[in-house]
Amino acid sequence: MARTDLDALTLNALTLEQRASLLSGRDFWTTKALEEAGIPSITLCDGPHGVRREAGGTDHLGLNESIPATCFPPAVAVGSSWDPEVAARIGAAVGREGRALGVAVVLGPGVNIKRSPLCGRNFEYYSEDPLLSGVLAAAHVAALQAEGPGASVKHFAANNQETERMRVSADVDERTLREIYFPAFERVVTQARPATVMCSYNRVNGVHASQNRWLLTDVLRREWGFTGVVVSDWGAVQDRVAALAAGLDLEMPGTGGASDRRIVDAVRAGELDEAAVNASVRRVVALTRRHSGVSGAFDADAHHALARELAAECAVLLKNDDGTLPLSAETRIAVIGEFAATPRFQGGGSSHINATRVDAALDAIGAHASDVAYAQGFTLDGSGDARELREAAAEIAASADVAVVFAGLGEREESEGFDRETIDLPAVQVELIRAVAAAARRTVVVLSNGGVVSLEGWHDDVDAVLEGWLLGQAGGSAVADLLFGVVNPSGRLAESIPVRLQDTPSYLNFPGEAGHVRYGEGVMVGYRYYETVELPVRYPFGHGLSYTTFATDGLTVTRTGDDRATVTVRVTNTGDRAGKHVVQVYVSTTAGPVRRPARELRAFAKVSLAPGESRLVTLHLDRRAFAYYDVRPGRWVVAPGDYTIQIGENASSVVAETTISLGGDTVVPVVSLDSTLGEWLSHPIAGPALLRVLTGGQSARPEENGENGLRMASSMPMGRFLSFAGIDIPHATLRELVALGGSDGPAT
Ligand code: BGC
Repeated sequence: MARTDLDALTLNALTLEQRASLLSGRDFWTTKALEEAGIPSITLCDGPHGVRREAGGTDHLGLNESIPATCFPPAVAVGSSWDPEVAARIGAAVGREGRALGVAVVLGPGVNIKRSPLCGRNFEYYSEDPLLSGVLAAAHVAALQAEGPGASVKHFAANNQETERMRVSADVDERTLREIYFPAFERVVTQARPATVMCSYNRVNGVHASQNRWLLTDVLRREWGFTGVVVSDWGAVQDRVAALAAGLDLEMPGTGGASDRRIVDAVRAGELDEAAVNASVRRVVALTRRHSGVSGAFDADAHHALARELAAECAVLLKNDDGTLPLSAETRIAVIGEFAATPRFQGGGSSHINATRVDAALDAIGAHASDVAYAQGFTLDGSGDARELREAAAEIAASADVAVVFAGLGEREESEGFDRETIDLPAVQVELIRAVAAAARRTVVVLSNGGVVSLEGWHDDVDAVLEGWLLGQAGGSAVADLLFGVVNPSGRLAESIPVRLQDTPSYLNFPGEAGHVRYGEGVMVGYRYYETVELPVRYPFGHGLSYTTFATDGLTVTRTGDDRATVTVRVTNTGDRAGKHVVQVYVSTTAGPVRRPARELRAFAKVSLAPGESRLVTLHLDRRAFAYYDVRPGRWVVAPGDYTIQIGENASSVVAETTISLGGDTVVPVVSLDSTLGEWLSHPIAGPALLRVLTGGQSARPEENGENGLRMASSMPMGRFLSFAGIDIPHATLRELVALGGSDGPAT
């Protein structure tokens, strides 16, 4: 095995200038080499659902062409597959293409949580749920890295909007970070060991992520054991010296040597510990040695076929009244909408792939049926006469058996770099759908959108809706495969579709103001919020239909330890077509001192079943499935109490449930003079001791003495209670009491 670590001799032989030079890029995409020390230069490039290797130049906004590569379904689609196998096969294929294109690190996947449907970059993220995001991303990373290149899980952390993305401070409480915004990163880091983690542009609680020591060193390295390279998002470094001290190893892109000089000067001035430079150099060298010299080839035809197969796993059949779908070869079809001919299949910005080829749904439908008419219906740039286009569409719809309208968002409506202001479809499309639905016998709507769009105003007029998200370059063929039942739809929503934008949990706190965005909804993100406040949505997280039907029964939950359980359930395909079902396991509890969401996804599995086939599915719930993050001791705690294990058809429809009791953790709270009287009295050791002091040696409970005053004062901090009530406890006694409560004594 090739040596990747930098021995002390080589390190010492390098001048400080040489070492510092290794910690920033040579240019936009490559690192600097030190040939004499055997340190190669490597190329990093985007990711995540394809390889964007620029042929020349350094543009990174998707304006310059890059070398052709396969555009696989972006994360928004993969999220809806609920299938780590889909993520892994994409990761492996991207890894092969990266290798073939000489790329050492493919940037991605992005595991930021969809906090608001307005985030312009939601198409690049998997889900509103941390477990689903983490499982899919870990599968992607492991498979990609098995092919040779390294991955870069991004953007760490709390980068959930594009507005002011380089400056805004995401103000998030620690429990919310730990329970919602960190777990996907934590899972990828601990399970898939990515070569790099990319820090985000934004500030987290006031401190730039790029120079946030708590994030980059305390949490990422010390708690999660990350040993790879922390790379900056492109241009995220504000203060290079502070960033290095915080744990940011590699600054990208290069700054023409300016940052390197700052590092050297800071070390010489005694402002930066040279050990931090050496630690980062070691990590960068290990990365460059491990991932240099990648080469290979890829089969563009095979990858296109793979992109088609996987895209079909991702689309979600939201509605299908009276078996409108699937269509048959004999159906007379009116295909309507610009997106049928000019597919929208990926998002704009740094992940924009120069696809090897693109399948249009119109052509693919034509390959399945012979009687197909087409009308453009609307234009993306607003040109043409909207009314004429609409009427022409309604006319062909009237003489067909089924009208299939391809609607959605254009690239101008959503992209990296800005957020949306609405979740509505463009009005011209809503009018078109309504006009077609009024004229047609049956109407199917196929959506292409990177972020959630509202279905209000037209949903009830149509018979079927297929949410295609952005399906990658073979999406057009995949949609046709689904419409004609060659493939049975099996996607499930990875994010809730709200009725109104105003219903979304972050509505009042997005995208923030005066440089801050307050995550006021806390852990109540997505379905956690809708289910807790019982607010109806148009379609819940986890929803998705199939051309077959499934039944779930025989739920058994077995405790396998103090705070672990195994869940077994039988799933049967009760229809007459092969299909895939997603078993969703939620845990619901009110245990503990913090407000818990009504239910949280804690395990899932996608199973493939032949008609009539039954299968027992077993899933494991570990400690974390029951825990909340307790900020006071600073750790995960399983509260004693009841936990209901629920099998959800989706997040709002429970089909089976059973409750178990867990003994949980014993958390002995620490009390100080700032703790309330109530907290003191409920402390198992300090409480009785305090009572003895207050009651002059008697051990009676306050209630027994009728001392309601004590109860009334229970929310007063102890220190203030004592002076308020004029109780003068000798200093030595007070010290003893505070020590019994687990804190340091009061200042003498
Ligand atoms: C994006 C990253 C991307 C990088 C390099 C940044 O603007 O936020 O996701 O990997 O550019 O293109």
